Amino acid sequence: MDGLIPTFKRRGHIPPIENEQMLNSHSTVMPVPDRVIIPLQDTPEDPYKVFVRVGDKVKTGQEIGTIGKGIGSLSVHATVSGEVITVGEMFHPLVQHVASVEIKSDGLDKSEVHQCFKGSRIIDFFDFLRKMGVPLGYRNIRGISTFIINTTEFEFCFNSRERIILEQDKKIAEGVRLLISAAGRKAVFLVEKRQKNIHKVLKNICAVITNTEIKLVSKPYPDTIHELLRQKTLIDEKTGKDKKSYNKTMFILPDVLVAIHDACYLGLPFINEFLSIVGSAVRTPQNVWVRMGTLLADVIKYAGGNIENTRRVTIGGALMGRPQFSLEVPVIRKTRGIYAAIALTFQEERKSRFYRRGPCVRCGKCVDVCPSSLVPNDIAVRVEHRRFEEAAELGLFSCLECGLCYYVCPSIIPLVELIKLGKLELKGRNSLLIFNSYKTHSY
Ligand code: SF4
Ligand code: SF4
Repeated sequence: MDGLIPTFKRRGHIPPIENEQMLNSHSTVMPVPDRVIIPLQDTPEDPYKVFVRVGDKVKTGQEIGTIGKGIGSLSVHATVSGEVITVGEMFHPLVQHVASVEIKSDGLDKSEVHQCFKGSRIIDFFDFLRKMGVPLGYRNIRGISTFIINTTEFEFCFNSRERIILEQDKKIAEGVRLLISAAGRKAVFLVEKRQKNIHKVLKNICAVITNTEIKLVSKPYPDTIHELLRQKTLIDEKTGKDKKSYNKTMFILPDVLVAIHDACYLGLPFINEFLSIVGSAVRTPQNVWVRMGTLLADVIKYAGGNIENTRRVTIGGALMGRPQFSLEVPVIRKTRGIYAAIALTFQEERKSRFYRRGPCVRCGKCVDVCPSSLVPNDIAVRVEHRRFEEAAELGLFSCLECGLCYYVCPSIIPLVELIKLGKLELKGRNSLLIFNSYKTHSY
């Protein structure tokens, strides 16, 4: 992992600069998009329910389905008003394709009225949040001893967690108060020592909300997991055992607290995502409120990007994010940020003045970082030459698509895109590929 910072520098990206600019700028709200794709599954195996059909007219906030079935299912709402134009399998940024609903906006953004918690007929607080689509682990929530609110930023090119705390401190305070009073538990704000700007805000919150505290850590989560165990933050007071206590701890993000507030007091279902959009393809890096289901292409355009020369897009940051095949994938609940960079893949980019992909120099960095103990460069070269069976023998399907090999590669070889392409080809799903530049037959 010694190559992380130098690799960034070699590529000419220095994210902390964008990060500082973004931190000092107020977030923006993206206008309602022309169409949205709203997934009903987190993985293709998940059960789901769909309540709409093609041609139905829907309002913003109307329940259109559920992720899962029965207890623990999560309601999914329309994020724009308009007409349902597709119901079926569509692209998903993390798992290729899942059941989804596509809605064409009528531009009116007519909303369905929901009752606040007090006016609602639902008595159970967590049942109410589930119906409002607030993403929490409802199956286990009653056994939780501590809610850990993770404000640390592992992806150092993003700062949406800090920004939302600075801008929405009152909602954060009320959200955490509602959560811990409903669960009868405590909450710990996990803060990195360098995050001095939010420390003061959270200190004020903890001074007025009982059963809340701040835990300062030296590194962002998940790097800090051992530190938490050492500090006994993850130890259950009743059992005193690390392992059990870890199961009794729920990590949540600050935007979920804002969503709890909005659902309870304003009757707003969870239809907006707060994310950072950064990278060399984006003219104005910023934190932005985006309707769930908005396509990546629209978010990039909104931030001043030109999608014609944007090829390398990662959902999540450069460290842990997932490279994307297509800009026609939606922003989903798990989108904390988008990293969009100018053009660095395959044949088209060879003509581009931005092209900087080099040959494999056999440095072995991709091998060093691979958590699956693969040799990514060997697999990628076979995919590139359409020797898919050989790639499979070398462990193609053991790849977790974590993106680390791609991130550390000094030659900017799109290793994980190639590996994904190999998987799709072997599964006979190459028709799902959109960019011609990812089709190897032109080689
Ligand atoms: S993307 Fe796949 S090959 Fe690359 S480091 Fe991650 S697991 Fe290994
Ligand atoms: S693919 Fe990249 S990281 Fe891996 S050995 Fe070649 S140059 Fe190094």
